[in-house]
Amino acid sequence: MSPEPFSFRVTATEGAARRGTLNTPHGTVQTPAFMPVGTRGAVKGITHRDLEDAGAEIILGNTYHLHLRPGDDLIARAGGLHAFIGWRRPILTDSGGYQVFSLAARRKVTEDGVAFRSHLDGALCALSPEKATDIQAQLGSDIAMVLDELIGAEPPGTLDAPRAAMERSARWAKRARMRLEQLRNDPGSAPDVIVTNPGQAQFGIIQGGTDQALRTESVQQTVEIGFEAYAIGGLSVGEPVEIMYDVVAHTAPLLPSDRPRYLMGTGMPDDLVECIARGVDIFDCVLPTRNARNGQLLTSHGVLVIKNAQYAEDMGPPDPDCGCYTCRTFSRAYLRHLFMAGEMTAATLLTVHNLCFYLDLMRRIRDAIGFGSFGKLRQEFHQTFSRR
Ligand SMILES: [Zn+2]
Repeated sequence: MSPEPFSFRVTATEGAARRGTLNTPHGTVQTPAFMPVGTRGAVKGITHRDLEDAGAEIILGNTYHLHLRPGDDLIARAGGLHAFIGWRRPILTDSGGYQVFSLAARRKVTEDGVAFRSHLDGALCALSPEKATDIQAQLGSDIAMVLDELIGAEPPGTLDAPRAAMERSARWAKRARMRLEQLRNDPGSAPDVIVTNPGQAQFGIIQGGTDQALRTESVQQTVEIGFEAYAIGGLSVGEPVEIMYDVVAHTAPLLPSDRPRYLMGTGMPDDLVECIARGVDIFDCVLPTRNARNGQLLTSHGVLVIKNAQYAEDMGPPDPDCGCYTCRTFSRAYLRHLFMAGEMTAATLLTVHNLCFYLDLMRRIRDAIGFGSFGKLRQEFHQTFSRR
């Protein structure tokens, strides 16, 4: 069985910016798209219903967390991640690699894969390109990611570690693709794996740190393997933002123009605007949800720290330019009170706003690209939004 429900069509462009339509087994995603992060099967602080109302067309699930708890075997028996968590729209799962490299203890990387201890109970676990593919096949996400080897930001001029990680990632990508094709074409050969979404697509990941020549090589090696689409990985790991923009500007045009381009783990609202201008179609980041829980609102004017004393008697809306439930209904003073009192509703209301702000920004950008006014939107955005 080899259904092909995955397709992508660019419907408008302005400079390098693209507007498009991505079809998956669980529905359509308009791009540029932002994916809220649903780490353990829930986007923290918000219900699926509010997420749908905010306009989220796709969410990201974390393979590492779901594999450890409740386990992908259980989720597969429940019919897959969509059925288990009650989310009917598209889902992308990461490979689990990022969490293994950032959370797990006593990690040992070999050519075969990564051995590590669970951050929950210390249990010995292993993740390989094949295993990451199997877990995601059981989760049944609409888009699966290949396992890659991650390293942090390197000092300029350091090339040995990024080259080794890039080359190993390419070898791992090939193994992940072979495994997916085996599951597609000969599921009987893997009786332990329950494929819950036969139309699942798989994205390759471009590595190479901040070196443009390495990025070019990584694109060649990864595109040669042949994936449904490609992601730019290994950025937003501490490098200066201008360098990140330069790597994106270099890498995005090298990728096939008829496939969506996903920039992993970025970022601030202004990063999204700038990377869309450089040809990126899909984003994810924990920033809007994590910052909400820490009392930070991302608004059209920048970051608003709700606990600041200046908001104690501020009866104005959190963001006067936002039409979300939180901004329509509540004052800065009330939200500050809830946050200072430790009410969990504070996290929920701030999360509703932050995600609405991100998703509304994406919607306005899509419209602007369609009308040929993205350049104007980009300029106006930077005039009002400030990081300070
Ligand atoms: Zn709002």
